[in-house]
Amino acid sequence: MVPNLRDDAATQAVDAAANALPAWRARTGKERARALRHWHEMMLAHADDLARLMTAEQGKPLAEAQGEVVYAASFLEWFAEEAKRVRGELLTPHLADKRLAVLRQPVGVVGAVTPWNFPLAMITRKVGPALAAGCTVVLKPSELTPLSALALAVLGEEAGIPAGVFNVVTGDAAAIGAVLTGDPRVAKFTFTGSTAVGKMLAAACMGTVKRVSLELGGNAPFIVFDDADLDAAVEGAIASKFRNTGQTCVCANRLLVQSGIYDRFAHALADRVKAMVVGAGLEGRTDQGPLIDARAVAKSRAHVDDAVARGAEVLTGGSALDRPGHFFAPTVLRDVRADALLCREETFGPVAGLVRFETEAEALGIANGTRAGLAAYFFTSNADRSVRMAEALEYGMVGQNTGLISTEVAPFGGIKDSGLGREGSHLGMDDYLHHKLVCAHVR
Ligand code: NAD
Repeated sequence: MVPNLRDDAATQAVDAAANALPAWRARTGKERARALRHWHEMMLAHADDLARLMTAEQGKPLAEAQGEVVYAASFLEWFAEEAKRVRGELLTPHLADKRLAVLRQPVGVVGAVTPWNFPLAMITRKVGPALAAGCTVVLKPSELTPLSALALAVLGEEAGIPAGVFNVVTGDAAAIGAVLTGDPRVAKFTFTGSTAVGKMLAAACMGTVKRVSLELGGNAPFIVFDDADLDAAVEGAIASKFRNTGQTCVCANRLLVQSGIYDRFAHALADRVKAMVVGAGLEGRTDQGPLIDARAVAKSRAHVDDAVARGAEVLTGGSALDRPGHFFAPTVLRDVRADALLCREETFGPVAGLVRFETEAEALGIANGTRAGLAAYFFTSNADRSVRMAEALEYGMVGQNTGLISTEVAPFGGIKDSGLGREGSHLGMDDYLHHKLVCAHVR
């Protein structure tokens, strides 16, 4: 049983976070680092249990869940290290009798809302830097994956994170969200999820002028040029499109393939996809688990039907599986038009739609013709083209000859409608720290 909590519990959690703030903020970075590092070790010590729990509630294949536990824990380790490296600045004064210091201080209580597709990593990517900076957190995890969040909190408690520093409130999204976006004691709001909900919650935060960071939806182009290494491009497409059964914000959504390599790429990709094993995440060798719910299955179906109605051909898959659970056959479609629904919206399912193009300019035009700006990928062996593409793609992250770009070491985030701020890397702490100027008069 998961508690179905509402606004009163969320307010109590904000009370707890506000009460815990002074003592947590007063610890040295090194002390906070020790607690975070211990939490990281606890996650790894319980990796198998965390992975099984995640697969049971979210559905991803166990091997992917095991990978996510390690990835999620890496944010606690990384930000444990960053906790010791927060630096202010002394500036050259503008007048002889002045001294200028810039302090970096924790922003305060943080409200966080996270999605179901990465039930642990989307939490530690926020909580790691927040706690490292000296902030306290109230988290509302997705109602679809509350158990992973609660297990993480128990491990945090056992690792020595003090009471009130990390609080989890499960239950009514709108009621809890209203507290996290409206309570003036919450200094910062951080959200990962869909663009529509993120925009609405960000607007609500402006009533109390909170700092806001948003990690929202994508519509990633995956561009394969004639001069690409075919095998690498196919492997990149498999990794980018089909990880987590196509339910990642950075997953390839539109595969733009140049004419000269189009047929070879289409057949090689379809052959790889046909060989995928679809099944429950805890069953033997599963490559593709179920989708999260019936709505997700309906969306994949609608995107396939729309593409086919516009002239696309199904090379493999194309429909839901006739078995209990929310399974959709991994799908490859060729001759998809660039104006198809699946090119305009995030599919969030295992549907790879191939769009043909002739020139680099045409590919760039299609790739950038969206309000989404999270991740983009291109495959080419031409060095000059690589520079041009990396610079011209209007995205926060670009994969060059690779379909996997996420690591705690590098900044993660989008531009345009895909978000505000960066998570991970040396930049990940910025959103949780104020700059404070101290301008001193010296006689
Ligand atoms: P969602 O927006 O439906 O839900 C995200 C979170 O918001 C959940 O916790 C949900 O309970 C909460 N929520 C929904 N309505 C709310 C409300 N009125 N008030 C307060 N909270 C509310 O998204 P989802 O379906 O859980 O996740 C999938 C989406 O997340 C996709 O669009 C995906 O691209 C995006 N995503 C983005 C990133 C990124 O880093 N950019 C990472 C993962 C997922």
